[in-house]
Amino acid sequence: MESEIVPKITKMTVSGKKQSMGFEVPCALAEENGHTNTPQKGLLPEDASVASGVLEAVSKSTLSPQVVQVSEDQNMVPTPAKKSSKAKQQIDVKAELEKRQGGKQLLNLVVIGHVDAGKSTLMGHLLYLLGNVNKRTMHKYEQESKKAGKASFAYAWVLDETGEERERGVTMDVGMTKFETPTKVITLMDAPGHKDFIPNMITGAAQADVAILVVDASRGEFEAGFETGGQTREHGLLVRSLGVTQLAVAVNKMDQVNWQQERFQEITSKLGQFLKQAGFKESDVAYIPTSGLGGENLVTRSQSSDLTQWYKGNCLLEQIDSFKPPQRSVDKPFRLCVADVFKDQGSGFCVTGKIEAGYIQVGERLLAMPPNETCTAKGITLHDEPVDWAAAGDHVSLTLTGMDIIKINVGCVFCDPKEPIKVCTRFRARVLIFNIEVPITKGFPVLLHYQTVSEPATITRLLSILHKSTGEVTKKKPKFLAKGQNALIELQTQRPVALELYKDFKELGRFMLRYSGSTIAAGVVTEIKE
Ligand code: GDP
Repeated sequence: MESEIVPKITKMTVSGKKQSMGFEVPCALAEENGHTNTPQKGLLPEDASVASGVLEAVSKSTLSPQVVQVSEDQNMVPTPAKKSSKAKQQIDVKAELEKRQGGKQLLNLVVIGHVDAGKSTLMGHLLYLLGNVNKRTMHKYEQESKKAGKASFAYAWVLDETGEERERGVTMDVGMTKFETPTKVITLMDAPGHKDFIPNMITGAAQADVAILVVDASRGEFEAGFETGGQTREHGLLVRSLGVTQLAVAVNKMDQVNWQQERFQEITSKLGQFLKQAGFKESDVAYIPTSGLGGENLVTRSQSSDLTQWYKGNCLLEQIDSFKPPQRSVDKPFRLCVADVFKDQGSGFCVTGKIEAGYIQVGERLLAMPPNETCTAKGITLHDEPVDWAAAGDHVSLTLTGMDIIKINVGCVFCDPKEPIKVCTRFRARVLIFNIEVPITKGFPVLLHYQTVSEPATITRLLSILHKSTGEVTKKKPKFLAKGQNALIELQTQRPVALELYKDFKELGRFMLRYSGSTIAAGVVTEIKE
């Protein structure tokens, strides 16, 4: 069963103009065997344990508030012998981070779901109710959308507005909107916007901490989205394999089914089964009945007795607020994977991307891998504002000098020159094979995808098949790999790629493999060869 593959176009902002870059990104995962008799524990059974190990290590190191030494120069007063511009102050990044966010936690949120499920309407209405869109503007949208014969799209247009704003500024690689909850600052990524706007799912999802999955509760519509070819499963699997563990499911358009509890239960039980198989913990998935169009249960609990008689849970905003904050890898060496490169007005050029680990200050030297060359970060822009520093989790634009723009491609990693990222063409990995029709044999050509990287590669060795939950070797040197199997393989990339062991940096050690338009496997890097 082949799921429908929709090639995605990456929209990029280059010198203020939006351009379509034709690089393909993995979107549709192979249809998972939601109805087989062998329930899968998760996409990457190892994922959870390794990830929790990493998290533990990080949280241990964050227990004691520490001052992070930004430069090797311990001396706070710059001595004339050293260039004073180089001698940076000590910055307590964590304290600064807290101050910057007014004590609120930062959370990157991606909205996923089948086309027409109501993603734009839901988020547009939420932003409106939060006061992020003024009444006059909303009125304008209502008038305009009515005139265009699309009155029901008025709220969806809210996100188009941010789209226009995006186009004006030379900033981010994917569309982003900010809003706040009582305890969090939310970056809403990859606002789905207008129908014509093909969202760059992968870039958005790769940077997300949590996701809202929107499903249409209308009769027949939920089913259409949930079937083979529908995006509900594909998106769910995709975000999970990219590391999203917490999910809010908006069971939307509940007005269409008269807020019926039975319909809600039918949908949540079907989805629950699937999401469990996809590797989500039951306790990390919440279901919220909503109407994006009517605005019920979005920012305040619905007062309507149709709903209150059977639903006592959170409204959508409360659910977003109660997501557990992600661990920020501020204590690790600096890493930023380039999502976009463009020429600046002044000297140098700009790169954009999310800081995966560490932090950066203006004036710092950075190493780009590949090509293994250094440059200076002359400026940092965060949410369109110039800043002196930025840290893990931030989507930034860096202005760089001392390097030729030609050397930098999407997928390069900027890192701390003292603790560089590894670059290789050969590495070993543990993979989970998706629902493929043709077994994988030695020499199999694939496209390797992680973060913003997309690189041709070959599966050069099939080392062993592993037991799904224990990880024990069940067969050495298999002749082929079939669907659903867990295996250890070796990959050879066409050109050098910068990556990390999953155990060290999970963001840069996790990938997907594609073949002829389908995602055939998800994996984690276990050994870097050369
Ligand atoms: P997207 O493709 O997931 O972003 O979906 P849109 O937000 O563009 O919505 C698709 C259509 O569904 C539009 O006509 C919306 O007005 C409609 N819609 C969205 N949410 C609801 C809802 O809660 N109830 C009803 N009745 N219609 C909705």
